[in-house]
Amino acid sequence: MKENDRYHERHRSRMIRKKAVVDAAIARATEQRGLLLVITGNGKGKSSSAFGMVARALGHGMKVAVFQFIKGKGDTGEQSFFQRQPDVLWEQCGEGFTWETQNRDRDIAAARIGWDKARCALTDPNRNLIVLDEMTYLFKYNYLSLEEVLPVLQARPVNQHVIVTGRGAPETLITAADTVSEIADVKHAFRAGIMAQPGIDL
Ligand code: ATP
Ligand code: MG
Repeated sequence: MKENDRYHERHRSRMIRKKAVVDAAIARATEQRGLLLVITGNGKGKSSSAFGMVARALGHGMKVAVFQFIKGKGDTGEQSFFQRQPDVLWEQCGEGFTWETQNRDRDIAAARIGWDKARCALTDPNRNLIVLDEMTYLFKYNYLSLEEVLPVLQARPVNQHVIVTGRGAPETLITAADTVSEIADVKHAFRAGIMAQPGIDL
């Protein structure tokens, strides 16, 4: 047997073993229910990952609600695109970054209004996916307490998925979640002096 053939044969038997492991794992996953996802960390890709799942959900004919906390000003591509979709409810629940508004009372009031709207969606079994974008900052700045939010998340309709994004997700939220990703900041163009690029950053 030539060296190349032996290499292919080894690869094939490795893939056969791998397939058996993957198939067994797939067979073990039999439960079906709504998930709580947390996408946190200092790297870029938290909100855009959530919006990727919004696109997936819409592709399956699901109904989605997005609540954007903290940031309320910027015209992002995802907002103008998804707002036009009939199965999307899109709510801006903040007036800008905390360092822009510089007014804690106003930020708290905006967070409260946003959370009241989100709470409604979190009791509606016809909303299949809820995105709570940048929600972690509400906990960080004590605009809202996790003790108030968590029971509502846990009492949501059984098949409803929820995605929470934002840096510094609290440990209690991570414990309560089903899937958690922490995106690492390896490099970001902004630090090299490149301004936010439409289609990439907004
Ligand atoms: P994205 O919306 O691109 O997925 P994100 O949700 O992970 O980003 P946020 O903290 O919400 O990150 O910040 C949003 C904006 O800040 C985006 O324009 C993003 O490119 C930029 N950004 C994210 N992470 C970093 C970083 N580590 N350094 C500089 N800018 C960043
Ligand atoms: Mg974000």
